[in-house]
Amino acid sequence: MTGKTHLSVGVTTFMYFSDKLPGKYVLLSLLFTIIGSMFPDIDHPKSILNKYLLPFRNNTTKVVVYLFVGILIIYLDTTYKGSMIFKIMGISSILIALSPHRTGFTHSVFGALMTTFIVAAFSKAYDFKNLQYYFMLGYIGHLICDMCTRKGVPLLYPIKNNKFKFPMAYSSSSKRGKFIENIIILSSIIYSTLKLPTLF
Ligand SMILES: [Zn+2]
Repeated sequence: MTGKTHLSVGVTTFMYFSDKLPGKYVLLSLLFTIIGSMFPDIDHPKSILNKYLLPFRNNTTKVVVYLFVGILIIYLDTTYKGSMIFKIMGISSILIALSPHRTGFTHSVFGALMTTFIVAAFSKAYDFKNLQYYFMLGYIGHLICDMCTRKGVPLLYPIKNNKFKFPMAYSSSSKRGKFIENIIILSSIIYSTLKLPTLF
């Protein structure tokens, strides 16, 4: 599934759940739903988030950067701070480095929980409570969308590497797949535009 489709599903999910979840920061909540909906594809060097995070968009750069960041966080944490949340951040970064696209950490329940835990800790520390719910919502939406495609997702990683997908899954690169994703994007734009006045 393309980054654009994930982005539009993220926005639509936020629009639908915005009056059902706690929290009062509309734009920040929208931003965290969008980040959650894009985050799992951080394991792909050419994904939208990596456009802003990596100096070069190739696999070697992805592995080196996330491995270096992960080891640096763990080193600094054990030297100065000794906090659980930084250890989790360091381990997550190393697992992102070691997971080829859609075969590991970020496309699993384990990855969703670890990263949501990090967001929860930071949103609490900076007094923006409840942003983790929006991040989680976007994240779950991403995993469900990827389960609609034939490649599926390794939901139970690292326990099992089986790929989970829905019975009617389509190939994203096929003509049918591109048509379905264009319909999703168009429907998202229409729904979000209609729902926009209710946000403020
Ligand atoms: Zn994905």
